[in-house]
Amino acid sequence: MAEIILAAKREKSLLRRHPWVFSGAIAHIRGNPPSAGETVDIRAADGAFLGKGAFSPTSKIRVRVWTFEADEEITPLFFSRRLERALRARATLVREGHTGYRLVNAESDGLPGVMIDRCGDYLVGQFLTTGAEYWKTTIVSALNRLVPNRGIFERSDTDVRLKEGLPKQIGLLSGQKPPDLVEIREGAYRFLVDIRQGHKTGFYLDQRDNRAAVAPYAKGAEVLNCFSYTGGFAVAALNAGAIRVVNVDSSSDALALARKNINLNSPDATGVTYLEGDVFTVLRAFREENRLFDLIILDPPKFADSRQHLEKAARGYKDINLLAFKLLRPEGFLITFSCSGLMTPDLFIKTIAWAALDAGREAQILRYLNQASDHPTALNFPEASYLKGLICRVT
Ligand code: SAH
Repeated sequence: MAEIILAAKREKSLLRRHPWVFSGAIAHIRGNPPSAGETVDIRAADGAFLGKGAFSPTSKIRVRVWTFEADEEITPLFFSRRLERALRARATLVREGHTGYRLVNAESDGLPGVMIDRCGDYLVGQFLTTGAEYWKTTIVSALNRLVPNRGIFERSDTDVRLKEGLPKQIGLLSGQKPPDLVEIREGAYRFLVDIRQGHKTGFYLDQRDNRAAVAPYAKGAEVLNCFSYTGGFAVAALNAGAIRVVNVDSSSDALALARKNINLNSPDATGVTYLEGDVFTVLRAFREENRLFDLIILDPPKFADSRQHLEKAARGYKDINLLAFKLLRPEGFLITFSCSGLMTPDLFIKTIAWAALDAGREAQILRYLNQASDHPTALNFPEASYLKGLICRVT
């Protein structure tokens, strides 16, 4: 096994069990140059063992740690054990009857680059790094042993793969190809998910707890659901007694599926509308028309994917939140999110405060929201925490 020898004093983050080794921290490689995904030993400049990880020749994150234990071998058994551990952590969701949840959340479940979601009878995998790719068939066969399923489908179509020198990949890994739409259960709600073509692995599972959190504010409310995608928040609001819901999204496909989901859950609902358009434009138009709402939900896509774009992103968040504040009735609620990891909770709160100020509204934070518990953040890997939200009340 090749050994990655770090430069002097570059072992600190590994001693804190952060699972990444950046290329700049490496002094040299001892032994045959490892191929993509191969397991390597990581050692400090003085030779002390630090961990074992997967080598990635093109990524700036040159090694991702599988284990910090010298006596733990990286074999199929290792992957079975990690998967079993991840499964046990989801037991409460299973008991509650949820059939859509994240089974493996990469680094935070001790499996860097591996994301596995359960969507009803199907599993959906994202294998984002060279290490994940290298062990893909091992992981798929372990999943088949541990989790009853009809098929495992791959959705490794994200840009991260390109940094790892891997092509994007979509297709069947085992079993049957999922049908066009697969139904999942989330407590009282049912959702149809497009595993093959939907965003990410088809559905925003990370918003599960927040869909439940929205419910208490929706009874009797006129709701504006911005960036509605396939209607997750609309279903929750209608189920809780909302009297009107306006869904806005730029994608007609997303809105068509939102309509199906809403009809599936609230077949008698009236007063639901679907607006295909740009949220920025729609909010401005509503302002011109003096439209008002009791509850506004803002769940935009990631505005910032690099530090250079952070300032522009903050302005984007501010703009939509400012407009939303102006469209709220007195005592109305704004439920607002950011899924950009670079946008820290602090900066997000400041941005929302700035938006309220410029809108001339006084507001208070009632609750802080984050990603659902099946998307855990390992304490040694704070980067995993990306979704944040606020429930604000205009006073
Ligand atoms: N709230 C959703 C997830 C939102 S994902 C849920 O809980 O399931 C972001 C959505 O915003 C996507 O559906 C995308 O089509 C839409 N979108 C992106 N930019 C937009 C824009 N400028 N105006 C309207 N919709 C936009």
